[in-house]
Amino acid sequence: MSSAAPCPALALVAPSGTGKTTVAHALVQRSERFRFSVSATTRRPRGREVDGVDYHFLDEATFRAWIEQGRFAEWAAVHGRLYGTPLANFEVARQEGVTLLLDIDVQGALEIQERVPDALVIFLLPPTGRALLERLRGRGTETRQELAARLRTALAELDLAPRFPIQLVNQNVDETARVLEALVDRPALRSGAFDEGARVAEIAATLREELERLEEGSREAGSLDYT
Ligand code: 5GP
Repeated sequence: MSSAAPCPALALVAPSGTGKTTVAHALVQRSERFRFSVSATTRRPRGREVDGVDYHFLDEATFRAWIEQGRFAEWAAVHGRLYGTPLANFEVARQEGVTLLLDIDVQGALEIQERVPDALVIFLLPPTGRALLERLRGRGTETRQELAARLRTALAELDLAPRFPIQLVNQNVDETARVLEALVDRPALRSGAFDEGARVAEIAATLREELERLEEGSREAGSLDYT
């Protein structure tokens, strides 16, 4: 680990299905220097989620009061619920010399990129459009409509890729975690070639083709509700 002042935050962004959360967990496993940022949200806890550990679960009035009080570094509405990164998380990370790990949506990451200039924001990509498609199809239990919605979301996320200077291909989780740790430690590496424009175009074309195929199929079937 470098003795220079540690990077205060690493934000990972990716089209859903790229394995961003798996990479984040691999980083935390790899090194104690990474600390998950606990976001606030107005959604309800799921399963075994614990307040203050997985999220700060707030009601909407409290969340809005936090916005008014300027307590968020960024916040966004995701799937109709509010999510935000408390500014206090950065203070604690700086005091403790750890790197805050943010697993947030694309809009939030753009805001972090502007408001926290010394944060490292990385756009992760799947190796190919096919690979992403396989992940989005998941267990094959979605309706056509659900899959079409996932494809549209991924395409909207990919559209924003050019706004992130560092794009990294997640070919293998351990290798990705190793490269991310090196990028955090050694800012000089960040000026390398990380523009994956051609790959982004290939992935988007594959997803668009599949979306058109689905839409075509549903026009023939007369409804998008067909599974
Ligand atoms: P989930 O409800 O499944 O935990 O998260 C839904 C989405 O919200 C994910 O895409 C996640 O990355 C995003 N998210 C979680 N916390 C934050 C946050 O603090 N800010 C923003 N902008 N997005 C977040």
